Amino acid sequence: MKFDHILIRFGEISTKGRNRRKFVDRLKQNIKVVLPEYTNLEYEGTRDRLYIHLHGEDHEGIVNKLQHIFGIQSFSLAIKCESDLSKIKESALEAVKGLYKPNDTFKVTAKRANKQFPLDTNELNYQIGSHILINTEGLTVDVKNPTINVRVEVRSEATFITCFDYKGAGGLPVGSSGKGMLLLSGGIDSPVAGYLSLKRGVELEIIHFFSPPYTSERAKQKVIDLTRELTAFGGKINLHIVPFTAIQEKIQQQVPENYTMTSTRRMMLKIADKLREKKQALALITGESLGQVASQTLESMVAINDVTNTPIIRPLITMDKTEIIAISKNIGTHDISIRPYEDCCTIFTPASPKTKPKLEKVSRFESFVDFEELINDAIENIESIEVSQEQKDEFSSLF
Ligand code: ATP
Ligand code: MG
Repeated sequence: MKFDHILIRFGEISTKGRNRRKFVDRLKQNIKVVLPEYTNLEYEGTRDRLYIHLHGEDHEGIVNKLQHIFGIQSFSLAIKCESDLSKIKESALEAVKGLYKPNDTFKVTAKRANKQFPLDTNELNYQIGSHILINTEGLTVDVKNPTINVRVEVRSEATFITCFDYKGAGGLPVGSSGKGMLLLSGGIDSPVAGYLSLKRGVELEIIHFFSPPYTSERAKQKVIDLTRELTAFGGKINLHIVPFTAIQEKIQQQVPENYTMTSTRRMMLKIADKLREKKQALALITGESLGQVASQTLESMVAINDVTNTPIIRPLITMDKTEIIAISKNIGTHDISIRPYEDCCTIFTPASPKTKPKLEKVSRFESFVDFEELINDAIENIESIEVSQEQKDEFSSLF
């Protein structure tokens, strides 16, 4: 017999009182989105658990995908059987047989939610344990530090047997914390900022500023690919590509060179905030890390942030580059980020941008130009793409 259920434990959700129902529903929905090909699955949510009935579906692919879903603390493959001693013994044996290698050790840890069950936990451990010992070869008991812990949970409706816990991704179910707009550049940092926001339950829409012909189609493809990597953690994502050439050229013409970077960032933020409002999102998210480059000093943030009151989430603000790189490698965005195609900022970067720009100065430089019209124009010409996991093969054959 194969495992017929997956038992999912929630972690933080369990503490969320009245919102729990909403959290569990959202988690269930998010799981369904990443498992579309498994049409036989059936879901059953209880107060503190979610069970997936496999109905014959192969568990391996499912296990891989569940490890990416936020809001799951841990999960286990399980066998469900009737709460009847001989059935429990047989099922426990099946579970172990499907798992053990020579020289493995085991113990049985029984728990009774149903106190009416005729045997107590010691008797259960003994009965199940000896049944396994007699019917296997090369497996011995180790109650202190076994390689396999056969956990048997006897409930009144059924008994669940699990042998191994997979670690979940932690965090909160994506969407349970509202929606934010991620400014995604194509560099290493912003995809990591997106990942960390998803982890705390923020649903994302993504904005990318694109400056053809200074930036190539390949740079755009890079951003599509990065977005697709992020969909592994929370399902499909809308990507908005903003034509930014006219604004950048205007800035080059009108603003003194050492202030072009500050001004560019302000324009990006203004546009992102307008789109945020349209999409009814609550926050903006960037990959900024304090002191990393000239535009990321506190003085720069004062001058740039002045264009909006919207909360700006900066998940990487106190992280070192090495820490950020490590995460980007873990989540699969690193190798895409280091593809050599330049984004619009890299190309227009001045030789010596101001590290301590003055808000009054940048506002004055900008006041000689009607940026509003250019901004509205850019917003009207946004190209929006819905990015999902399934498109992977379709797209890769195109490029
Ligand atoms: P990243 O590695 O994310 O590119 P960075 O260290 O290169 O970050 P900057 O180039 O100063 O830093 O960009 C700071 C943040 O501004 C980025 O993390 C991103 O959120 C946003 N940003 C920069 N360029 C773009 C762009 N072309 N489109 C959208 N957002 C951008
Ligand atoms: Mg960058």
